Amino acid sequence: MQDVLLKNLNEIRSKIGDRNVTLLAVTKTVPLERINIAITEGGVRYIGENRVQELLQKYDGLALRDQLHIHLIGRLQTNKVKYIIDKVELIQSVDSYRLVDEIQKQAAKIGKVQDILIEVNIGNEESKGGITPNELPTMLQYLEGCPNVRWRGLMCIPPISNDENELSLYFNKMKKLLVDNVDKKLDNINNYILSMGMSGDYEVAMNAGSTMIRVGSALFGARNY
Ligand SMILES: *Cc1c(COP(=O)(O)O)cnc(C)c1O
Repeated sequence: MQDVLLKNLNEIRSKIGDRNVTLLAVTKTVPLERINIAITEGGVRYIGENRVQELLQKYDGLALRDQLHIHLIGRLQTNKVKYIIDKVELIQSVDSYRLVDEIQKQAAKIGKVQDILIEVNIGNEESKGGITPNELPTMLQYLEGCPNVRWRGLMCIPPISNDENELSLYFNKMKKLLVDNVDKKLDNINNYILSMGMSGDYEVAMNAGSTMIRVGSALFGARNY
């Protein structure tokens, strides 16, 4: 029987439609066999893991690994950067200078320029990672002194809500924050990534200008932690 994830994948893709939005399949807690079905039968090429340990456990078994875009999307401890620096295309969850410094150091060691997103705590929640919007300009300035780190855009996890209007407010703020800070650098907004939208809110996020949605449970089914 066909894995239900292939049906889910079609549904998500039809909702993306002809928008210029990348689907990142969030594979935390998903067994390797099912991730590989998504890759080989579903054509998934972007995958996101939250935890370094889990990524390392799965890494060698991933199908078509040379074709994959592997992203780290969860909180990253500085002492773990060295384990993933040669494996991930994008680190989406950068939110401190200590982490920037460590990425710079480890990327320089292997002669890589590491792409990163800055995570923004757009709802100002104590429990969540991310910098405040006000801190962004200073951090971007700092990044200009880090030759092995390249800023590619922003990521957020808004407060949990069923209210689409409230969610839209957060997503719109993110879009504005990106536009404001890219303009300053006289660069093209289309070159940047706005990573927002998860299983419950990716349509709202896309309507607000998301360019990358991170979908786990709507693709692979509910996680049982
Ligand atoms: C788990 C996770 C997701 C996906 O969540 P779902 O609601 O299952 O789609 C997206 N982004 C981050 C950072 C996550 O930790």
